[in-house]
Amino acid sequence: MTISRILIANRGEIALRIHRAAHEMGIETVAVHSTADADAMHVRLADHAVCIGPPPATDSYLNIANIISAAEVSHSDAIHPGYGFLSENAKFAEIVEAHDIAWIGPKPEHIRTMGDKVEAKKTAGALGLPLVPGSEGAVETVEEAREIAAEIGYPVIIKAASGGGGRGMKVCESEDQLESLMKQAGSEAKAAFGDATVYIEKYLGDPRHIEFQVFGDGNGNGIHLGERDCSLQRRHQKVLEEAPSPVLSTEERDRMGEICAQAMRDMGYRGAGTIEFLWENGEFYFIEMNTRLQVEHPVTEMITGIDLVREQIRIASGKDLSCTQDQVQFKGHAIECRINAEDPFTFAPSPGKVSYYHAAGGMHVRVDSGLYAGYSVPPYYDSMIAKLIVYGRDRERCMMRLKRALEEMVVEGVKTSIPLHQELLQQDDVKSGQYSIKWLEEWLKTRE
Ligand code: ADP
Repeated sequence: MTISRILIANRGEIALRIHRAAHEMGIETVAVHSTADADAMHVRLADHAVCIGPPPATDSYLNIANIISAAEVSHSDAIHPGYGFLSENAKFAEIVEAHDIAWIGPKPEHIRTMGDKVEAKKTAGALGLPLVPGSEGAVETVEEAREIAAEIGYPVIIKAASGGGGRGMKVCESEDQLESLMKQAGSEAKAAFGDATVYIEKYLGDPRHIEFQVFGDGNGNGIHLGERDCSLQRRHQKVLEEAPSPVLSTEERDRMGEICAQAMRDMGYRGAGTIEFLWENGEFYFIEMNTRLQVEHPVTEMITGIDLVREQIRIASGKDLSCTQDQVQFKGHAIECRINAEDPFTFAPSPGKVSYYHAAGGMHVRVDSGLYAGYSVPPYYDSMIAKLIVYGRDRERCMMRLKRALEEMVVEGVKTSIPLHQELLQQDDVKSGQYSIKWLEEWLKTRE
């Protein structure tokens, strides 16, 4: 089918990102927005705009009925969900398809399977991906939890089957904490995700977070686009991402990437996906699969030269993948800094009016952002206001360019995480790439 008008069911930088890919393909865009986002850049740039409700996301960006109505009145023939919001809502994907609108995303059944982490782990195991040792499925009773924990050894991590965004996890150091943490995890999961199901995993001591970008055409063809290292995290939230990982050899990338690509072929997976692993002592352990575009996808674009959103749109319109695995080439190094409207060291949110804005520029520097001078960062949504992505021929040049680009970025009126990134780049462990998922929080403690 031909896609001629895409409704972008998202906001902020990712709405802009999708708009750009669409326009470069000659496709019109429809922005949807809450009343709080009437002046947002994605609304200004889109060909058409439809207001879908008041500021709270539940009434607007998560309001399925309003979004479908917006698609109908605007005669959109496709919907791109971006990340977050409804992007991993299998029901929404089904409703979109039932309205004869192309869903720019994976098959609903795959979204559903991977959205339930217990199911996801079972599926991943069956597809031959290495797993973190732990419970075979959901853990229902404390006795069961005790048995499993004793078998795999403490510490263990109790995770919500429906968890996401780094929420719904409890690390348990010893048996005497197990009962109360199980209960807490269950009730928190119920409150946050409406599902009390939990499972248990070995808590790895000092791993890195390494994820593989995959793509499938839905007909059994699949490729991988290498990995991203997202180990610099705070509260399980990524802060800076890079590709390739500083610790992976070409052989390891090819081997693990091929395992991931084969899994996608076997599934008949369609569209973009990310398979997330923890990596420790040279071993990979699957933790989850995200059935959508990721925030950090630009670092992959920088080192492969492939436009991932364009690829998603192509696949949704029934075309083949634009390249074979043999044609995918990795070149150079890329790093992304997530810039949030928050205090750089206390992380307190800092919404409000941006009085002045100047984006970094120059060779191999990319800024994905909906910011402009006079824009008010609303308090209702995610605090990320920009992504700075920089490419270099090697990691060292990339870091030098990133330092230079950060010096150029000016955002006045709200506090941002730019000073945090500037300080991070001066740390020896960051310079050498020797950091694990625990590094950032430990470093922040030493700064206090
Ligand atoms: P979410 O969907 O909430 O992002 P993930 O399963 O992807 O949850 O885990 C997020 C982060 O939590 C990981 O990047 C890692 O930092 C930490 N984590 C998850 N599982 C484990 C584990 N078994 N051992 C140690 N850390 C873990």
